Amino acid sequence: MRILISGAGIAGLSTAINLGADGHDVTVLERAGHLRVNGSPIDIRGDAIEIADKMGVLGQIRDLRIDMSERVQFVDSSGAVVAEPPLDQINDSPNDIEIPREDLATILHDQLGPSAQLRFGESIAELDDDDRGVNIRFTSGAADRYDLVVGADGMHSAVRRLTFEPEQQFLRHLGFYVALAALPDYTPVDRTNPMYNYPGHMTGIAAFNDKALAVFMFRSPWIDYDYHDLTAQKQILVDAFAGHTEWRVPELVDAAVQDPELYFDSVSQIHMSSWHRGRVVLVGDAAHCASNLSGRGTSLALTGAWFLAQALRDHPGDVTEAWQQYEHDQRPHATRSQATAAPGGERLVPATQDQIDARNRSFSPTTEKRDSI
Ligand SMILES: Cc1cc2nc3c(=O)[nH]c(=O)nc-3n(C[C@H](O)[C@H](O)[C@H](O)COP(=O)(O)OP(=O)(O)OC[C@H]3O[C@@H](n4cnc5c(N)ncnc54)[C@H](O)[C@@H]3O)c2cc1C
Repeated sequence: MRILISGAGIAGLSTAINLGADGHDVTVLERAGHLRVNGSPIDIRGDAIEIADKMGVLGQIRDLRIDMSERVQFVDSSGAVVAEPPLDQINDSPNDIEIPREDLATILHDQLGPSAQLRFGESIAELDDDDRGVNIRFTSGAADRYDLVVGADGMHSAVRRLTFEPEQQFLRHLGFYVALAALPDYTPVDRTNPMYNYPGHMTGIAAFNDKALAVFMFRSPWIDYDYHDLTAQKQILVDAFAGHTEWRVPELVDAAVQDPELYFDSVSQIHMSSWHRGRVVLVGDAAHCASNLSGRGTSLALTGAWFLAQALRDHPGDVTEAWQQYEHDQRPHATRSQATAAPGGERLVPATQDQIDARNRSFSPTTEKRDSI
């Protein structure tokens, strides 16, 4: 089949690898002009590890996994350490694999077979499914026809908007925003990553390999803005941390303002009762974003991409059956991951100073077992 995939993130690239390996003619569109490789290290957990193996990329992933012994330290406004969560409360399982998002995206990109082509700076503008195929008009003005369209274009999926209802029908905002920016001049003094809180806000530094990121989270009701507008995103971040000159807040906010690849988004989930309509299907965050707080978005993207290709393999010529099998296989993973996301934000970004202090006390060395953050 000729299959169009919108989005070259982890879900889109994985879907392209799997469908390409099955002999389909695959085109992947990426809205950005290049592969978006920034972001903090991400986790590959549970069934996704076995699936990475089946996809032929587990060896390379293991080669580039990072050592999870970087420690989080909560610091006060002067930079003094006030709490340090034990490592076993940060990691889910010793089998989890943590790898920079950049490395995973590059491994997947390099694994794309000859039957998959990648087009940058292109998106779907219009989509018309006539039951036998899908007519596409691209934002460039070109047009083409495909047997199937896969929306792998993330939480703010254009394919979902064009095929299903508007985003707000499916999006549940969890009350936080997150941002990540490159910190090119940061030199870590040791293997610790500091995080500073004031009520409703967290900022910190995540250093790994030879890189460092400024990390931000803050509480906020839903903000309406054009989520492709980088200038608007930077202004929201600047406003959210305005008036705070303690610790390294101004330096980190400045790094965010300077970064042309700033990652900024709401911490939200996507809940849909069905991920397909006709010849169009969603995979990854587009279908069931669990939010960055779940730590499972990448694993879900890998499992979804695998189950989708497997379902098409098991039901050649019958997309209705294939979509049913895909949803049957993937939904338990999505439901479980979405359920784990909610408490993390309370721990990372307590709303009041009392809650910040209580969280820090809970990490005293005598406490035996506590919730994970
Ligand atoms: C730059 C970036 C950094 C991230 N950093 C983190 C992180 O640090 N921690 C974390 O937990 N999660 C992060 N995520 C989210 C995480 O990658 C996903 O939750 C998970 O990997 C599932 O990926 P996905 O492919 O479904 O969606 P995404 O990773 O969001 O990928 C979607 C892709 O589709 C592209 N796209 C969007 N709209 C269109 C369109 N209209 N047409 C064509 N292409 C389009 C995007 O540019 C992107 O490349 C990040 C995502 C991105 C894009």
